[in-house]
Amino acid sequence: MKAKINPRLTSNRANIFKMIEEAATPVCVDTIYLELIKTGNKLNLSTVYRGLDCLVTKGLVKRITIGEDNRFFYEVAGLEHHHFLRCLCCGLILPLEDCPIKEYEKDLSKKTDFIISGHKLELVGYCSSCSKGV
Ligand SMILES: [Zn+2]
Ligand SMILES: [Zn+2]
Repeated sequence: MKAKINPRLTSNRANIFKMIEEAATPVCVDTIYLELIKTGNKLNLSTVYRGLDCLVTKGLVKRITIGEDNRFFYEVAGLEHHHFLRCLCCGLILPLEDCPIKEYEKDLSKKTDFIISGHKLELVGYCSSCSKGV
């Protein structure tokens, strides 16, 4: 499901949104900033931060945390619940298509009488190019 670009977004915000929408993986602030500069946009880092806050508030973009340092990454809002595989060497983030613990969650809920409202799961390791050098 893709969100529609809000026509009332400023051009900077529309560009930020377009970048997030077209990226194959979640992107962090630095990546967004550098990419926009590279493609000839004139803006500063604080504009990117403000733009992201606005997109999150408007519900177009979702802020997620990945990694031990809980760094912020951004992806298009409205995607199905999913998890990530993260390379400890190069930082590559691969979105995974499905959630392996949905059934487990149901069982656990039955067993413990606990209403489970969510979970966090991140798989880490070395991607194919990094594992060749490990
Ligand atoms: Zn890697
Ligand atoms: Zn899950």
